[in-house]
Amino acid sequence: QCVLACPVGALTEIGYKDDVWREINDPTKHVVVQTAPSVRVALGEEFDMPAGSITTGKMVAALRRLGFAKVFDTDFSADLTIMEEGTELINRIKTGKNLPILTSCCPGWVNFFEHQFPELMHMPSTAKSPQQMFGSIAKSYYAEKVGVKPKDLIVVSIMPCLAKKYEAARPEFAPDGVRDVDYVLSTRELAAMIKEAGVMFSALKDEEYDNPLGESTGAGVIFGASGGVLEAALRTANDILSGKDIKDIDFVAIRGLEGIKEATVQVGGMDLQVAVCSGLGNARKLLTKIRNGEAKYHAIEIMACPGGCINGGGQPYTGSNLKTLEERKNAIYQVDKNLPIRKSHQNPSIIKLYNDYLGEPGSQLAHKLLHTHYFAR
Ligand code: SF4
Repeated sequence: QCVLACPVGALTEIGYKDDVWREINDPTKHVVVQTAPSVRVALGEEFDMPAGSITTGKMVAALRRLGFAKVFDTDFSADLTIMEEGTELINRIKTGKNLPILTSCCPGWVNFFEHQFPELMHMPSTAKSPQQMFGSIAKSYYAEKVGVKPKDLIVVSIMPCLAKKYEAARPEFAPDGVRDVDYVLSTRELAAMIKEAGVMFSALKDEEYDNPLGESTGAGVIFGASGGVLEAALRTANDILSGKDIKDIDFVAIRGLEGIKEATVQVGGMDLQVAVCSGLGNARKLLTKIRNGEAKYHAIEIMACPGGCINGGGQPYTGSNLKTLEERKNAIYQVDKNLPIRKSHQNPSIIKLYNDYLGEPGSQLAHKLLHTHYFAR
């Protein structure tokens, strides 16, 4: 483990490259990797490719060259998050209780509300983040499938985010002393590993993710941009509440880099008031209004980084270049558009996971593996 600190001490990054190299080279370990949605649209910048280059296939190929046994996708578990969080959203809309529901997949934001707004702790969804859902499914369902003991299965995450390192280390995500996610590397650390290994990134031919934890939808990938988590949840809630396969699924009013976006959206024949907020200063403004009873919403997405994970602290440095963020955001929605399936509940591997293992969304096993709780701090 090494610690990198910026010269003014504003940011400290705990690095795990050496630990991950050691695990990959340990023949007793089965080392799998998951890649977050926004990494694929930023990694190319570390290899002199233009901002917004979509490098999914090259990234998968590079991870195989580094020696990972399987290359999986956090977009898969983003779809799983929507199954659980979408069910919560629908239940809260039907009962009118605990509204608004607040998304909870950003650990920077979770840490903020635990410290600053503990009286609103009943509002965030109890669904774990995609990173943590991936870890718990890998160490249960997948470990059983491939016959590996959870302690010998090493889960590595490639994240745009430094707060994800802290999230993976939270004690509640280490049931029975075995962590769901063992190591978190930033996009920059992955680029450094690829360079250390002498892999010619730009010359790699595209490769596909492994299965069963590598299949995903457009709803999974849009988690990478501000507004995407809520849009993914609305796509699923709309189908389930209406009983139809709705074709018009682009909730454009909640896309974009503005700090606070508000909209009234039609879901299941109802008008829902929603808001999307990125940056913790904006979150404070919105939550203060809710605490004071000055604003009413059904659902709110909050991300700590302005613009969402495309602008995470582990991404290639942008120098606050808005054009770079705009290109990354556009690339995220392009990936969504290119995919044949764009709704989480239509992901065949997710359907199979529920049929074979979890039962229904919100089942007892789903709660044990896929939900969490929060602490006033
Ligand atoms: Fe991490 Fe920022 Fe994304 Fe939150 S918004 S999960 S802090 S990269």
